[in-house]
This record gives sequence, structure tokens and C-alpha cells, in this order.
Amino acid sequence: MKKNVKYIFVTGGVSSSLGKGIISASLAKLLQGRGFSVTIQKLDPYINIDPGTLNPYEHGECYVTDDGAETDLDLGHYERFSNTPTSQANNVTTGRIYQNVISKERKGEYLGTTVQVVPHITDEIKRSIQILGQTNNYDFVITEIGGTVGDIESFPFIESVRQMKWELGSNCAVVHLTLVPFLKAAGELKTKPTQHSVKTMLEQGVQPDIIVCRTEHHLNEGIKRKIAQFCNVSPTSVIESIDAETIYDVPLLMREEKLDIEVLSVTNTPIPEKLDLRNWERFVHRLKNPVGNVNIGLIGKYVELKDAYKSINEALVHGGTENEYKVNIVSIQSEKISAKNVAKKLSGLHGILVAPGFGGRGIDGKIEAIKYARENRIPFLGICLGMQCAAIEFSRNVLGLIGAHTTEIDIDSPYPVIDLMENQKSVTNLGGSMRLGLYDCHIEKDTLTYKEYQKQDVKERHRHRFEFNNDYKSRFAENGMRLSGINPRENLVEIIELENHPWFIGVQFHPEYKSTVKEPHPLFIGFVRAAINYKKTFVK
Ligand code: GLN
Repeated sequence: MKKNVKYIFVTGGVSSSLGKGIISASLAKLLQGRGFSVTIQKLDPYINIDPGTLNPYEHGECYVTDDGAETDLDLGHYERFSNTPTSQANNVTTGRIYQNVISKERKGEYLGTTVQVVPHITDEIKRSIQILGQTNNYDFVITEIGGTVGDIESFPFIESVRQMKWELGSNCAVVHLTLVPFLKAAGELKTKPTQHSVKTMLEQGVQPDIIVCRTEHHLNEGIKRKIAQFCNVSPTSVIESIDAETIYDVPLLMREEKLDIEVLSVTNTPIPEKLDLRNWERFVHRLKNPVGNVNIGLIGKYVELKDAYKSINEALVHGGTENEYKVNIVSIQSEKISAKNVAKKLSGLHGILVAPGFGGRGIDGKIEAIKYARENRIPFLGICLGMQCAAIEFSRNVLGLIGAHTTEIDIDSPYPVIDLMENQKSVTNLGGSMRLGLYDCHIEKDTLTYKEYQKQDVKERHRHRFEFNNDYKSRFAENGMRLSGINPRENLVEIIELENHPWFIGVQFHPEYKSTVKEPHPLFIGFVRAAINYKKTFVK
């Protein structure tokens, strides 16, 4: 029987960066804890088809799903919290909406009519929202609308919400996240920005059902009542979202504020008695009570950007928590590392992680850092470009192949140890020309990698163009670099690991995308464990 899918929208007002993604993911966690199946979707108002071609300065990390969609980093939060894979359908941009409508127009699907924002664009938006509920049998679809109400770009999205509310009645609810700032000079929390942002919603015909107020100080009952009165909601529907120590606190804080109960009430959903968050609580307890700490160096060219390596940061938190250790992430700009200063730059680290990336900036520093990790037996994890750099470093400094490089950076390298596959060489269109999404990897049994995964066949997510050049396979293997994981179908090297080193692994894929609170990634658990051992053994 067809279920009554409930659609919950999460909109934002007053300011960007209030944490709509975390609120959406926390709500999903609470609803899951009450036994509902939930998916979360992000609608982004920009015109790019996807964030794949955006640079991290613009948009933070690009998150990749199983089906190879290049998506907004909020999808990473959704997966880490809900432990449910997302897909292309979970991230839709204005660009994609228009692309779909225009291609239908060209096919003659609207023959005879003028194609307009209302109803054609809004119908396409509604279709992309409802398709998630209709095809997957979820109880709840939570749709986060990027940007802030009142932005020119978000109009068609808010208009679609208005229509869906009208069409679906109590099967649809709007949670509006705003800021309640504290004015130091006045010594007061101010509700006016919230009132204004709700008014902006009302001008567009949408009455929020629940107002979540991001704040640095607790909201007293008086303030809640005031917001309720000005914004036409009941006082219980004004939810405080106080700044938290970690994002992982937010589901527990939202439980205290009864966000789930409000959502269930306004959507006329019977409220299951039990809310089971035991696993989550256990995780947060461990996270906050570590028995020790380790320093992991994150070497990359975007380290000064908070969100550029979001999933790696979170996967390290998961790996640390699993080991009951706190991971101090020491961000090091790869451009600043040279042969001369590498020992100083990397001193005090118990593990070295070389980040993914595109292009040549900072690559020499990455290679120096890897040499240092290899020679000084410091645990090392290289991800994607980090793995490719490990192959280059090994070629140059162990195999003696002077000038070895990736053809991404040196097209004339005499030893192109990282290169394009033959069938990729003719591709010129950068958007969507990559190896993306889930691919099989077969792991050799007597390897460190196998020890960490405890299985031979895994699937991991990719996002790259270049590959390990198989011409160099035997030279690597004969000289102590195991090719421990292979994609069986295309015979591509996916994992390399150094023999005679306590823990040195490079992976062509991105393990960080698959690490969740419920299932921390085995490579991150193993890497942090190795860092802990290194600290115990070598640091007195
Ligand atoms: N630039 C490299 C490639 O395209 C690595 C990409 C990455 O690190 N994600 O193959």
C-alpha cells in the first residue's frame, strides 16, 4: 500500500551558515530513533548543474555519493548522521531544474504553451522533491533549501513549498531556522531579525510551522512566547538551538527541545513512545571522554578553509572516537613545506594524512611530507592525490626514477607513474569526465589493508581522472610497495602499501565519504590506532 509520505522543509532566515544541514540531519536522526525511515535532500539555488566544478573556496568540499553524484557537503552530514546512503536525487540545483525543463521544452513536451517559472519550473522542483518519497517508500523526506529566504534565487523554491503545503496539508511542514542574536551593548537577545525573516516568508505565502532559533544564550519562556506571538506559531513550536560543543551534540539538544515531537504533531503523525538514541549517546560519550590524544597532520592546499576537507575531518573524529582518543588535527599548508623545513613543519605529529586535490599547487610539499613519513616510519594515509603523490615519491626516491610524475602536472614526465587511462585521453569536457562513485576493490589477503578491512571485497567511492600506471606495477612490488587493492574489472590499482613500515597506505578512492557515526571507516580507525601506537612507542 502506498504510504502517506510526509514532506518537511527546512528553510533559513537572517543569515547563512546557521547550520540548516545539521538541524536537518539531527531531525532525521530523531525520527529514525522513533522508528521512521527518512531521507534528506538539499535544494541549492545556484545555477551550476552540480558543485563538481566549483572550487572549494566557493563551496567547501564536494561530497560524492555511491551513484557518483558530485554534491553539496551537507549530504555528508546527512549520511554521517543517518547512516543512509544518498544519491543524485538528494541534491538538486537550480541549474539542474532549468536543464530538465529546457530539455523537455526542446523535446516538445510543452508544445503550444509558454514555458514559465510558475508552473513549469515550480512543477519540476516539486517533482524532484516528491520523486524521493514516491520511489523509495520513506516515511519522511526532509528537504533543506539552500540560501536564505528573500534571496532572489530562492523564490521558485519557496513558491514550490507554498504550493506543496497547499496541496498536501498536514503531510507537509516547514521548519524555519533563524538567528536570535545577542546584542552585547543592550545585554539582550533580539527577536526582530526572526520576526522580519518570518514576514519575508509570509510575503511569499508560506507560514512556517516550527521556528528553530540559533542562539548563543538560552531563550527564556518570555522570548519564546514573543516569537510565537509575532510569528503565528505555538510557543512549543519555538525551538532553541544553542551553540553546541560539537555538531554531534545537536540531535541530543534537539531531543531535549522536542523538535521531533513538534514535527510529528504538526504533521498529524502518531508519536511512537520510544526514542532510541543509545548508539548515538554512546558515541557522544566516548567523543567527550577520550583517554588520550594524538596529533594528525592534515597536509593540503586548502587547509585554511574550514570546510574544504570536511569529510576527512569527520572521519578522523569517528576513527579517534572508536579508539577512545581525541584527534588533534594539525592543518599544514602543503605549499609551505620544503625539503629544508619538513622536519620542523611535521614535528610533533603522530600520523600524517596527505589530502586529495587537483592541480600542481603545493604538490612538492606533499611529496616531501610523504618522504618524511616513509623514512621516519610515521603512520601515513594518502587519499587520492595523496596516494598518487606517494607513488611519485616512491618512484623518485626508492626506484630512482628521476622526474617521475603524474601527467596531470607534467605531461612530458619521463616516468609517468600516474597517468590517464587510454580511453580517457580523448575526453575534453571537464564537468562529469571523472571516475566517480562506487567501484569494486579486491584486497589481497596477507596485507595491512586486509587486516584493517577484515574482508577482501569492498566498494569505495571515487572522484579522480588519473590512475596508477600499470607499467610500473612490477617495479613497485619488487621494491617493497605492495599493490594491495585492485579494481578487478578494469585492473586498476586502488590501494598501495609500504612493506617494512608500521602503517603506510595510499588509496585512490575516498574512504572519508563512507565513514559514519554508526560505521566509522576501518582505514581511519586503523590509521588513528597506528598513530596512537606511534605516540606510545616513540614519544616519551
Ligand atoms: N587530481 C587527481 C586526479 O584527478 C586526484 C583527484 C583527487 O585527489 N580527488 O586523478
